[in-house]
Amino acid sequence: MRYLVVLALTVLLLASCGSGGGSGATSWKRDYWGHRPGPKGFSTVFLDAGHGGRDPGAVARSNGVREKDLALDTVKRVQRKLGGRVKVRVIRSGDEFVDLDERVRRASTRDGAILVSIHYNAGPSGWNGPENYYWRVDSHGLATRLQRELDKASPFSGPNRGKVRRRLRLTRNPNVPSVLVECGYLSHPSEASRCADAGYRDRLASAIAKAILDQQAHGDPPGPLPPPINKPPSRPTDPPGS
Ligand SMILES: [Zn+2]
Repeated sequence: MRYLVVLALTVLLLASCGSGGGSGATSWKRDYWGHRPGPKGFSTVFLDAGHGGRDPGAVARSNGVREKDLALDTVKRVQRKLGGRVKVRVIRSGDEFVDLDERVRRASTRDGAILVSIHYNAGPSGWNGPENYYWRVDSHGLATRLQRELDKASPFSGPNRGKVRRRLRLTRNPNVPSVLVECGYLSHPSEASRCADAGYRDRLASAIAKAILDQQAHGDPPGPLPPPINKPPSRPTDPPGS
């Protein structure tokens, strides 16, 4: 009887591992939902500068800096700091509009890659500091590393959401591990003035590059992984935050 129970459990376990299609270890590795530990030794990072062209993103009321410009500048700094230790592909290299689904499509073209999308935030009055958004289980470790390094680099510590699991088109839809980084709140006047400073953005970029290289060298930091959640891809028509 005990043998039968063990057998039944094994069959169930194998069936759930195979839910991404195919069978056995290969399907686990290529699980469509990203239900696996985070990557180690990845070869390529897609750096995505949020917004661009006709979409400025957040604009600081206090000093007029635009999210799209700061994000592109930060991406270029991160690229330099990675210094060839991992292959970098940028989703946009200039002030151009790229649709979110097109960003997802570009980042999903390469096996063994990760996606880091860089943004600057806007929100409730008084909110400040870096946040990181992830959805997939295999993106939790990288989000943890990014939050930790950015918190060290930033004098702003909230209130904010910190590291948060949220199903967004850029966190749920790519078929590679993906984290969306919010470097700081442009709606917070003193944080907006720091973010306008190139030296400060350079420190943020160093923090982001360190988190990427640590993840590449060591995989996930110690600690439990979040539970898998099966939800369909995020659509533009979904209510915000769902
Ligand atoms: Zn943004």
